[in-house]
Amino acid sequence: MELWFTEKYSPNSGITIKVKKELAHKKSDFQEMSIIDTYEFGKIMVLDGFIMFTEKDEFIYHEMIAHVPLFSQENPENVLLIGGGDGGAVREVLKHNSVKRVDLVEIDKMVVDASKEFFPQVSSGFSDKRFHLHIEDGIKFVKQSKEKYDVVIVDSTDPIGPAVGLYQRDFYKNIYNILNDDGILVVQGESPYYRDTKEAFIALNKELKTVFPFTMPYFAFIPTYPSGMWSLGYARKDGKEILEPLRQKTFETKYYNSETHKASFAHPEFVKELLK
Ligand code: SAM
Repeated sequence: MELWFTEKYSPNSGITIKVKKELAHKKSDFQEMSIIDTYEFGKIMVLDGFIMFTEKDEFIYHEMIAHVPLFSQENPENVLLIGGGDGGAVREVLKHNSVKRVDLVEIDKMVVDASKEFFPQVSSGFSDKRFHLHIEDGIKFVKQSKEKYDVVIVDSTDPIGPAVGLYQRDFYKNIYNILNDDGILVVQGESPYYRDTKEAFIALNKELKTVFPFTMPYFAFIPTYPSGMWSLGYARKDGKEILEPLRQKTFETKYYNSETHKASFAHPEFVKELLK
C-alpha cells in the first residue's frame, strides 16, 4: 500500500509527498508533531500538519535566515534565536567565528528532543560551548531580557497558536529594545503568493515598519514551503540600507553566497505592490 502526506496551501492546492514510514508521532502542550521518512525529501518534521523542514532542502532556509543578517554586520557577537528549536539556524550562526554567544528560546522541548534524535546533522550546534538553550515563551523572554544582542532571528511557526504574538508590534518593540544600536532583526516572513500566507506577509511587514527605521523583506527559493517563494523580514535599528554582505565568507555553504545575498533583496513587481 502506498502512503502519501499532503500539506494544503489553499482549499484547492498543496504539496503531496510519498511516505516510506512514520518514525514518530507525538503531542505536546503546544502542538502535534510527526516525523516522516520520505522517498524524495528524506526525513521531514511536520508540526500541526505543516512541514517545518526536510533533510533535503533545510539548508536553504537555515543558511538564508542566518547568514544574511550576520554578514550584514562587521562583527556580530551576541545572537538571539526565538523558535527554531530544531537547531538548523543555530548550526549556521555558529559558523561565524566572531559569534561569542547564541541564546535559543524555544517554547516546546519536544521539538528540541526530536531534532536531537532524528536530525543530528541539523541539531549539531547544540553541543557547542557558545550555545545556550532556554525552554520558554519567546514573547516573555524578550520582554524581560537585560541582555543586548547584535542579531535577533525569529524562526517561528506560522502565526497560529503559540506563535501569534511573534508577529505583533509589541514583540517587535521589545526586540528593538534589546538590540544594540546597529542591531538587526530577521523574521520568518511567510510567502506573498497564496492568500493566507500573503495576508501574514503584508501584516508583518507593516508592523515591522512601525517599529524599525529601515525594513525590507528578502527572498529564498524553498521547494517545500508554500509556492516555493519564501520571505524573511529584515529590519535594522540604525536605519541604514545595507543590502549586501560586509564581510567575505570563510566557510562552506550550499545556497548562501554574496550573489544570493544581494539578489535576495530584489522584489518582483507584484511584491512591490503588496508592500505599498
Ligand atoms: N521556519 C519553520 C517553519 O515555519 O516551517 C519554523 C521552524 S521551527 C521548528 C518553529 C518553532 O517555533 C517551533 O519549534 C515552535 O515550537 C516555536 N515557537 C512557536 N511559538 C513560540 C514562542 N511563542 N516562543 C518560542 N518558540 C515558539
